[in-house]
Amino acid sequence: DVYGSARRNSLGLDLSIRAVRERLAGAVAALDGERLEAGPIIGGKLAPAHQAQERRSPADLSRVIGQAWDATPDQVDSAYLAAAAAQQAWDDQGGEARAKVLRAMGDALEANIDRLIALCSREAGKTLSDGIAEVREAADFCRYYASLAERQFAQPETLKGPVGETNRLSLHGRGVFACISPWNFPLAIFTGQIAAALAAGNAVLAKPAEQTPLIAAEAVRLFHKAGLNPDLLHLLPGEGAVVGQALVSHPTCAGVAFTGGTDTAWAINRTLAARQGPIVPFIAETGGLNAMFVDTTALREQVIDDVLSSGFGSAGQRCSALRLLFLPEDTADMVVEGILGAMDALVIGDPADPRADLGPVIDEDARAMLQAHVERLSRDAKLLRQLPAPDGGHFFGPAIAEVPSGGFLTKEVFGPILHVVRYKPGKLQEAAAPLRAAGYGLTLGIHTRIEAFAEEVRRAVPVGNAYVNRSMIGAVVGVQPFGGEGLSGTGPKAGGPHALLRYAVERAVSINI
Ligand code: GLU
Repeated sequence: DVYGSARRNSLGLDLSIRAVRERLAGAVAALDGERLEAGPIIGGKLAPAHQAQERRSPADLSRVIGQAWDATPDQVDSAYLAAAAAQQAWDDQGGEARAKVLRAMGDALEANIDRLIALCSREAGKTLSDGIAEVREAADFCRYYASLAERQFAQPETLKGPVGETNRLSLHGRGVFACISPWNFPLAIFTGQIAAALAAGNAVLAKPAEQTPLIAAEAVRLFHKAGLNPDLLHLLPGEGAVVGQALVSHPTCAGVAFTGGTDTAWAINRTLAARQGPIVPFIAETGGLNAMFVDTTALREQVIDDVLSSGFGSAGQRCSALRLLFLPEDTADMVVEGILGAMDALVIGDPADPRADLGPVIDEDARAMLQAHVERLSRDAKLLRQLPAPDGGHFFGPAIAEVPSGGFLTKEVFGPILHVVRYKPGKLQEAAAPLRAAGYGLTLGIHTRIEAFAEEVRRAVPVGNAYVNRSMIGAVVGVQPFGGEGLSGTGPKAGGPHALLRYAVERAVSINI
């Protein structure tokens, strides 16, 4: 590993061990005895409650887990002021000093893994295994960006020039970054954006998704406990149209890191374009219309396994998730039959129960949108199956339908609905054309034993992350740098070697004596 031989990815927890399951059940019970609070955290202090709203679990609407309140525009102003005043000293400390703080945060996340998993389950409806992955990825981001900070931000690079002249190039933070994150990875992406901005020498104002402020507040408290000067990271919860807008339009904002829907990315881009003052970078990681292409040589059992995890894992609420499954006419029936059989074994229920494969979707709006899409499928396509869903929360039964062509779907539908398209072998280009026309470019799955087929699909469907003969979700930090192109995002890839460069400015100095 060229980015620090001491770095290793987090190992997480093994749910097959009974003692681990018991520990996690204890952590969930302990959390249920608390009443959590989240609001603006400015300079390390929780601002007094202001129109606090009850937070309920998406898995059980009768369960109140805490309360949260939004930031006001004045609080956005004071957070910018405090952050801007602290940023220069943080940048001056250099990459090595910053790496120490980020590594301490990685350790703090692991030390609190049980509680964080319980919180992801209660607030975001995440299964325990998804919760484990959240904490691991968050810790991995901290440590990976720590290694990049040491490598790229510690010493200036000396460049060759005329005799007698010294030329140096160095990287610096830009100022105060606004980090705007989604509810589907309320800990991993929230922490990853902040860790990247901090590693590069910036201060951060973080706005979590409206649905997951409690997890965000917990992460911010851990950053501060891990030794980060509280003025370098402030939490500003609230709605995109109010707090997000205030963050992005503020003259002190030196850059925006955003993960979420393509529509919101367009809105942020417009706000940035209309602003006076410095022209700042916009790092957007948005949606996908992700396909998997299977040929007749693919191993059926493996395809079924990977289709289920890619399409229905995390209740389909990943931007990397499989939406369109392209099957060759000759073997399509066999594969679909296998998928239907495997679907029947899926367990949908309380995400804190280790047996659950799928928890709820995030909220009632999401559930209603998915239900409307299933109705469209039963009307205009062929709905093959929808599993029943339990009551009491925002549960949604995973569904599978056959659609006439890839062109049936032109926008991302964020949830556990799989669309099957049959294609004629030899007509791959035609089958892939609507996908390309839709303009996304995030993930792609390929199942084949023929290299030329994999190559042909990759050329037909350009994406940021292609996966051959495996699932197409769960990119690992430092292993599969993650992020798309076109409507799916701007790059740079999260968890990749170039991740920090857009968070930084470059300064060249030429000295003659
Ligand atoms: N990095 C995640 C994965 O590889 C997806 C991130 C997202 O949904 O925003 O599955």
